[in-house]
Amino acid sequence: MLDLPNEINYTLDKLYGCGYDAYLVGGAVRDTLMQKPAHDYDITTSATPAEVERVFAGHRVVKTGMKHGTVTVIVDGVPVEITSFRLESTYSDGRHPDAVTFSRDVKDDLCRRDLTINAVAYSKQKGYVDLFGGVSDIENRIIRCVGDPDDRFAEDHLRLLRAMRFSSVLGFTIEENTKEAIHRNRKYILTVSHERVFAELCKLLCGGNAKEILHEYSDVIFLLIPELAVQKGCEREYGDGGGYDLYEHTVNCISYTEPLLHLRLAALLHDTVKPSGADGADTLRIRDTVAANVLSRLRCSSALTDTVCRIIQHCDDEINGEDKVAVKRFASKVGIKTAKDVIKLKRADILAQDPRFYGRLAGLNAAYDIICEAEENGAALNVSDLAINGRDIISLGVKKGPVVGELLRYALDGVISDAVQNERDMLLKYVAAHIGVK
Ligand code: ATP
Ligand code: MG
Repeated sequence: MLDLPNEINYTLDKLYGCGYDAYLVGGAVRDTLMQKPAHDYDITTSATPAEVERVFAGHRVVKTGMKHGTVTVIVDGVPVEITSFRLESTYSDGRHPDAVTFSRDVKDDLCRRDLTINAVAYSKQKGYVDLFGGVSDIENRIIRCVGDPDDRFAEDHLRLLRAMRFSSVLGFTIEENTKEAIHRNRKYILTVSHERVFAELCKLLCGGNAKEILHEYSDVIFLLIPELAVQKGCEREYGDGGGYDLYEHTVNCISYTEPLLHLRLAALLHDTVKPSGADGADTLRIRDTVAANVLSRLRCSSALTDTVCRIIQHCDDEINGEDKVAVKRFASKVGIKTAKDVIKLKRADILAQDPRFYGRLAGLNAAYDIICEAEENGAALNVSDLAINGRDIISLGVKKGPVVGELLRYALDGVISDAVQNERDMLLKYVAAHIGVK
């Protein structure tokens, strides 16, 4: 008997009490079989949505997706999703079923699920229902389509990306037939909405197996992000060549970042314009734009796009802990959070190159420590951290206007470079001396 949260036990028992069949299915069953804590409980039942509403008449019921048979019942303040058993339908557009037909048999419902590992149902009364060998695939860590993969991908085009995502996140191997069908049917992915693609891509990127998936399924990735396709076969100068191309470098770089979305997206796009040639300031601007274009096309939020592009924009900046003042100036210019992320990306970028460049890591690690120390000590890195403000500058006889800001920045740089302490009188003297006021 599975150990289930109260609201789930209650919901299942209530359905059983009214004579309906009810099962847990999907992620919760999969996680439990993997001995992992489940986070998201999906219930599937023989009751139609209207019947579910009647069973839970005394509760708040939200008709989340009545068309698809999903009703959300609020039990003790917790939302519980209940979906009626459904028959697989035809999908003329590769995205939406043509019709939704309810069934009284759990087997019908399991047939319409994407992967065997997601098609195991569990009933408190009847135990597991495992029609497609999902339990053994979970044990053997295998991703396999329910039924014929070509048919399943033709029905719903998102499924091929879901297979890749689950493989990346769970670290499972995609079985040969499913794998070949992903490659064969890759063009389907172009018909899926950018929002759904991006949601899957983000999970895929943050998975423990992202490197392997991005490597094996580069053909799918290049359809989604053609800007990366030009990296394939593009030899990069690694001294000894490193033995791999720029796309492989990108993929390795991702694997050396923490599984945090903004860092992984920055790693994915950090070299997007390198093959076209020129380096230097212009390249930075172009690179920024390419990354921003990709992200906005994929409907990434503008806040996340900004975060990612700021990291990329500075990833070629020279940062070395030997020059403490320069590091603090850098953190002051871009902000502490971005500065740390830039260093993380630079570290990954080096680790993804020939080991003879690893010597550069020491300078980056030292820079990272300097920034952490500044953060812990509450060091002044912004004008607003100073012990003086604009009024103090004006009290020195300076006229209102942009020069006030300039003088505050001069004072800040004095503090950052240890020329003066962040103390009111000392700062005023320091600025006064600069402008020649006694
Ligand atoms: P997690 O929530 O941890 O990402 P999950 O397995 O619960 O994993 P969901 O996307 O929440 O994944 O979907 C719930 C279940 O619905 C899946 O386990 C699967 O059985 C089914 N499912 C979801 N999307 C599809 C699809 N496109 N085609 C077929 N079945 C699907
Ligand atoms: Mg889920």
